[in-house]
Amino acid sequence: MEEKKNPKKPLIYYLGIAVGIVLLLNAFVFPAILKNQVKEVDYGTFLRYVDQGNVTEVEVQENQIIFVVRNKGGKDQYYLTGRMDDPELSNRLYSAGVKFTKNIPKENSPLVSFLLTWILPLIIFFAIAQFFASRIQKRFGGGGNAMTFGKSNAKIYVEAQTGITFKDVAGQDEAKEALQEIVDFLHNPKKYKEIGAKIPKGALLVGPPGTGKTLLAKAVAGESKVPFFSISGSEFVEMFVGMGAARVRDLFKQAQEKAPCIVFIDEIDTIGKSRTGGGPISGNDEREQTLNQLLTEMDGFDPDKGVVILAATNRPETLDKALLRPGRFDRRVPVELPDLRGREAILHVHAKNVKMDHDVNLHTIARATPGASGADLANIINEAALRAVRLGRKEVKQSDLEESVEVVIAGYQRKNAVLSMKDKLTIAYHEIGHALVAAKQSNSAPVHKITIIPRTSGALGYTMQVEEGEQVLMSKEQALDKIAVLMGGRAAEEIIFNRITSGASNDIEQATKLARAMVTRFGMSERFDMMALETVNNQYLGGDTSLIVSSETASIIDEEVLNIIKSCHEKAKTILADNKEKLHELTKYLMEKETITGEEFLHVLNG
Ligand code: ADP
Ligand code: MG
Ligand code: ZN
Repeated sequence: MEEKKNPKKPLIYYLGIAVGIVLLLNAFVFPAILKNQVKEVDYGTFLRYVDQGNVTEVEVQENQIIFVVRNKGGKDQYYLTGRMDDPELSNRLYSAGVKFTKNIPKENSPLVSFLLTWILPLIIFFAIAQFFASRIQKRFGGGGNAMTFGKSNAKIYVEAQTGITFKDVAGQDEAKEALQEIVDFLHNPKKYKEIGAKIPKGALLVGPPGTGKTLLAKAVAGESKVPFFSISGSEFVEMFVGMGAARVRDLFKQAQEKAPCIVFIDEIDTIGKSRTGGGPISGNDEREQTLNQLLTEMDGFDPDKGVVILAATNRPETLDKALLRPGRFDRRVPVELPDLRGREAILHVHAKNVKMDHDVNLHTIARATPGASGADLANIINEAALRAVRLGRKEVKQSDLEESVEVVIAGYQRKNAVLSMKDKLTIAYHEIGHALVAAKQSNSAPVHKITIIPRTSGALGYTMQVEEGEQVLMSKEQALDKIAVLMGGRAAEEIIFNRITSGASNDIEQATKLARAMVTRFGMSERFDMMALETVNNQYLGGDTSLIVSSETASIIDEEVLNIIKSCHEKAKTILADNKEKLHELTKYLMEKETITGEEFLHVLNG
């Protein structure tokens, strides 16, 4: 996906070049000196040698004289002496029959000294400058070379590069349709202009993490045969004030040059946060400037030119209202968690690249994973493939998939967890408690699996229930039954051991959340009827809520919640007390097997 950047050349590379040059110069300039030991003598000694006829060769240089003396052994010895203003020297050498020259020494040749004094320092200087520039760039998230500060580093994706098309995105048909229209417009804008239709300037993909927003954008890039600029919101927020705005400007300049084209801003919430939302001390000048620039640019360009802006976020409620105004991101494309059919389709897309055994049934896996995102499902397929490899198989079996569903939900099995017999028994009763309450209520989902093998997530055991079909609505009865099932674990412990443990903490949390939502958001309490008591802050990320009521009302809400939980707890205890024999029998069976399926459970339950 990523465009390849030029690999950065390290400092050592430039130093290498500098050292190489120095060595080369040396090799030419000082060869004689390097090769031979040179003795320094005074001028008188030099003349004496000449007169004695021992000197074979003389080289007169600007400031010194180098001469060679052949000694008795026939070996040459180099000597060096200072040069005197001696007009008779030439005659003297001539009459002694010495070979002599006056040389312009190489080390002082204009070319070499020019290189040494001017070019070499420049090379070293640039090497160091380049090194620091690249370090600074790395720190501040830039790319390319030192001259591109402030340029957006949006990557251009075109069809050939992403290779992702709408076929790779399973489910999400509405989103695909909305985006298809944009792609279509960019292909033949005439059709739309003739009828007078205006294509939206921008479309905002909203939905929980992992539902395929980024994937969809990439698919649009693959589908449209136009340039596709992609940048992530976080890349805009730079270290230096003003950089983000500069990047936005540059991005839109590039886009308008390349029009028709698509600009995709991923995770736009990082720059598009509501401007009033910040505290009194505005540490967010930079982000604000970037956002303002974005708004200006979006207003500035002519949509007929064919620049369409896509953006994605999983926190639409934090976005500045100005961004959502008509003429900006006026179209919202919801990318929701997949339903049963969507999950099965996503599993099929990802299973295509994995060798699957014939017995594999992806429908069952889709049913066991309500609430899973596309990313979770892709992860489940991959975990299953890894498990198959671990077990030395060539194909993925259904058991691999089943296990990887649990890995993704609850973490890996903790093989080396040592539990005392008493703890294990408590856990077994606890889990059978959940399952038995579920089985004895008419509005509970059927039990799919019960296990008392601990998981790395900290779960000591769990009971998996799987709905028959896809559930969109939850009735009040279903909600109450669900809370009763959650109470079932603790209720079993109470009935059997007359002792309570910490093992129910997760159940308590879930049950309280649901009971609270019943009162504050679902209008399921007599007391408050259909009064809105809470707002959801971030719909797609955990769904935090905040109360919008007075403190007196808040304490009444707490009372209502407590009443729901207490009555469900009682109901669970009654069910288990009435079926104590089965509770013992099923627990004994679970202790032996450690993991049992829904069928085995029903088999034992029904005798
Ligand atoms: P988001 O941007 O919404 O957080 P991504 O687009 O990054 O999610 O999705 C992460 C991964 O999950 C994708 O690369 C893909 O493998 C998988 N995925 C998510 N949704 C789908 C889908 N509808 N069809 C196929 N794969 C999906
Ligand atoms: Mg994303
Ligand atoms: Zn429990």
